[in-house]
Amino acid sequence: MAKILIVEDEPAMQLGLKDNLELENYLVETANDGEEGLNKLKNTSYDLVLLDVMLPKISGFDVCKMSRAAGIKTPIILLTARGEEIDKVIGLELGADDYITKPFSIRELLARVKAILRRSQSLSTNSEITTIGRLKVDFNAFQAAHDSVEIKVSHKELEVLHYLVKNKNQVVSRYDLLENVWGYEEQITTRTVDNFIVRLRQKIETNPNQPKIILTVHGSGYRLIL
Ligand code: CA
Repeated sequence: MAKILIVEDEPAMQLGLKDNLELENYLVETANDGEEGLNKLKNTSYDLVLLDVMLPKISGFDVCKMSRAAGIKTPIILLTARGEEIDKVIGLELGADDYITKPFSIRELLARVKAILRRSQSLSTNSEITTIGRLKVDFNAFQAAHDSVEIKVSHKELEVLHYLVKNKNQVVSRYDLLENVWGYEEQITTRTVDNFIVRLRQKIETNPNQPKIILTVHGSGYRLIL
């Protein structure tokens, strides 16, 4: 049974989320501010975190950043307020896996929760180490290394890489990536996909400006050579 942490300071919102997730048979724990959330994340293993952005003590962004810096790889869905478009981009760059804008329907939230849990479970069935350019990746342990030195790769970057590896030597369009990695089409644009590819190239390619592994197929998308 998946265990979910809700970090949310509004009591009504926290209770509503908890009740609905428990109805779906998830195990749920709650935290009322960023500090409590971060402590729980450090001390307990969760399958997913729902993390409000505007929180007392430590903001959701900082919880996200600090937990990733501490090596915590638990998938995070950010809860953002309407009109915080820029925040979503920042959140994803800080290592969040998804975001949902308040007010949201509970059905939409549950769909996102299921999608993230399904993706992290499908990643964890693949346990061998894959060598991709300079990078050695263990999709199971969510770890990547250059010559045994661990380097930071976000959960989402690993998912992009995993999808490209699964479809190696084939052309993968930006829309394929959007649909299969992000799983829905809202706000995230093909530009985001391009930014992820740029970051992955910096980690994989010997010369990121002249990629030999993740190739751009003009007008079509990308091809990972393996
Ligand atoms: Ca709040």
